[in-house]
Amino acid sequence: MREIYSLERSDFEDYFVSKGLQKYRATQIIEGLYRTKAKSFEEITNLNKDIKKMLSDDFSFSTLEIEKVQKASDGTTKFLYRLADGNFIETVLMVQSYGYSVCVTSQVGCNMGCKFCASGMTKRIRNLEPFEMVLQVLLIDNYLEQMEKRVSHVVVMGIGEPFDNYDNVLKFINIINDAKGLAIGARHITISTCGLVPKIFEFASYPLQVNLAISLHFPSNEKRSAYMPINKKYPIEEVISACKEYYKKTNRRLTFEYILLEGVNDSIEDAKELIKIVRHLNAYVNLIPYNKTKEDLARTSIERRDKFFEYLIQNHINAIVRKEHGTDIDAACGQLRVNTMKEKEEKE
Ligand code: SF4
Repeated sequence: MREIYSLERSDFEDYFVSKGLQKYRATQIIEGLYRTKAKSFEEITNLNKDIKKMLSDDFSFSTLEIEKVQKASDGTTKFLYRLADGNFIETVLMVQSYGYSVCVTSQVGCNMGCKFCASGMTKRIRNLEPFEMVLQVLLIDNYLEQMEKRVSHVVVMGIGEPFDNYDNVLKFINIINDAKGLAIGARHITISTCGLVPKIFEFASYPLQVNLAISLHFPSNEKRSAYMPINKKYPIEEVISACKEYYKKTNRRLTFEYILLEGVNDSIEDAKELIKIVRHLNAYVNLIPYNKTKEDLARTSIERRDKFFEYLIQNHINAIVRKEHGTDIDAACGQLRVNTMKEKEEKE
């Protein structure tokens, strides 16, 4: 049986055509799933009995179980979901000045092993299926609906490397972007990669105007390789030439994520190196305060962060300091999952 939330419009159309029905049925079911938010085929009111029966024979209607919810004073809410196979994933709802943004997880664990990341502490167990990503957004949209709000933005920046689960992530985006469904605008969707170069080239041909963010974090190969093993495979020069090609093809502005670590990558010398890398790209630098997950790493002080930021601005680099969310809960990506897994192990 296929999972109903893993199907995009073209899959529904193919399905209905294969059953001798018309393509417009796809719109009916998409509206039923994502607008009226049916929880079963029975609840889809614009389909007749025979079609509902046919659908229930061919598709399952899974959901995610909520294991834990943490709400911060700024409204940031972390949801720890339990998957059908017992694995945990986390999804974060962030209250932004421009709307409600959901940070989606794309894998159970992550193989990239970035040294500053809680998610990198556990190896990838498996990729998430499209429906498991769709449900992260849909369940939060349902939660917001009680307050007459909607999810307006989606960032694929949670646990996992999205480009390591490329096909499923793109299918997920096609599904949430459907104008008759959740209708999250492509420009309101961002994918973040640690720099899987072949996939950056491939993504340049993806037709939707989705934003791309590169987790650069370090301004030299020496430092980047020390904290991000992927850099040994795809060093900075290769990532940047892929970005240039991506920009040439898409004309879409890139974002470079830069997590500030005290005494590691936050000096003016580091800023100078960073400027050399991003100067000729139409890009933003997003400076990110570090949420401590490792004993030997610390967050850059506000004074040092501001100096770094001002230096970029003086040198005509588009830069912002990312607003912090959920500092009074397990704020770092993957932290709630890792802490829950530890608690469970201790109990067993
Ligand atoms: S920062 Fe991203 S790519 Fe690196 S280990 Fe964490 S989840 Fe994986």
